[in-house]
Amino acid sequence: MVDSALFPKGFRSLSVPTFRATTVPFSDYASYRDRGNLPRSGYSYGLAGTPTTRVLQGKITELHGALDTFLVPSGLSAITTTFLALCRSGDVVVIPDNVYPPVRRFARDTLARLGIETVYYDPREPETQLRGLDQARLVWCESPGSTTHEVVDFVELRNLADRLGAWLGADNSWASPYLCRPLSHGFDIVVEAVSKHLSGHSDLLMGSISVGSEDLARSIHESVRSLGLGVSPDDCFLALRGLETAKLRIRESGASATKLACFLSTHPNVAELLYPAHASSPENERFTTQFDGPGSVLTCVLAGPGGRDFEAMVLRLQHFTLGASWGGTHSVISPAVLDTERTVDRRYCGSDLVRLGVGVEDTDALIEDIERFLKIE
Ligand SMILES: *Cc1c(COP(=O)(O)O)cnc(C)c1O
Repeated sequence: MVDSALFPKGFRSLSVPTFRATTVPFSDYASYRDRGNLPRSGYSYGLAGTPTTRVLQGKITELHGALDTFLVPSGLSAITTTFLALCRSGDVVVIPDNVYPPVRRFARDTLARLGIETVYYDPREPETQLRGLDQARLVWCESPGSTTHEVVDFVELRNLADRLGAWLGADNSWASPYLCRPLSHGFDIVVEAVSKHLSGHSDLLMGSISVGSEDLARSIHESVRSLGLGVSPDDCFLALRGLETAKLRIRESGASATKLACFLSTHPNVAELLYPAHASSPENERFTTQFDGPGSVLTCVLAGPGGRDFEAMVLRLQHFTLGASWGGTHSVISPAVLDTERTVDRRYCGSDLVRLGVGVEDTDALIEDIERFLKIE
């Protein structure tokens, strides 16, 4: 039930009201003058949030078992804000090779310009490239990772971060808090692309940063403020509406993705299925111990050399939409050729990869669609 204090006397609704504001009026001069001393949850100016924003922050905080959550305009800005909040010139950050590709660009352009060095690790064996390193500010994790979905051992990564004296942060967008709660695995920070599963309808952009300690909350809050980041209360309303069905959507699309994975795992045109929730994955055991159910995103590596005629293949699709992103009610297909996105593990570079973000349409119709797409001429 929505907090009754959010409604005028005599009225209630089952959804959270949308409060929009730039100016927040103060009733007396002293409280206006001292507004800088308000707690983080207080209201002083629209950019720092309204009651609508606070309800969404509170829900994500609760889902992650966090201390506090900050909302920013995109999943990417949740990642970049975290890095900017924690790192300074001379620091080293440690990033997985299968990281969301725009993060690699951010590290190369922005972090390098600030004098922050990036070291990449193989998510399958994090210590290998890092043996010579004895200190870092932040160890980043994305598990399962972008496009190829490798699963990292959380205990091993926590030990690595401890050895390096580093914060440990996770991009949990693949799983969402419904399938994984990194803070309960010893992570310090978890970010979500709210644009994906949590809002769930492919129509809004938002990111969240949740932290488990007051120290980190202060650092992230300071950065969010000084960078001038905020989100629209209308988008918070839509994200809150999306959250009401997130668990159901994730369960449904995960079940559908599992059936698609079974179909793909024996298809003659598929050389390898990259989906840790499937029994054929070498990481299936690790996945099932760290995650509470199957996710909705999977990738297949097509058989034979790369360079397929994707142009002709996508014309045969009737249900999957060609495009980027996933996590919504509509299924999305993204052909991918990895190249500049990988520097450590180049196993899949040059192959034709196809990533599927499974929505909530009829599973049989989706399987028939992929059958047409993969048809051997
Ligand atoms: C999509 C995505 C992001 C970025 O989210 P946006 O809201 O689109 O900026 C970050 N991490 C992962 C793993 C993603 O898939």
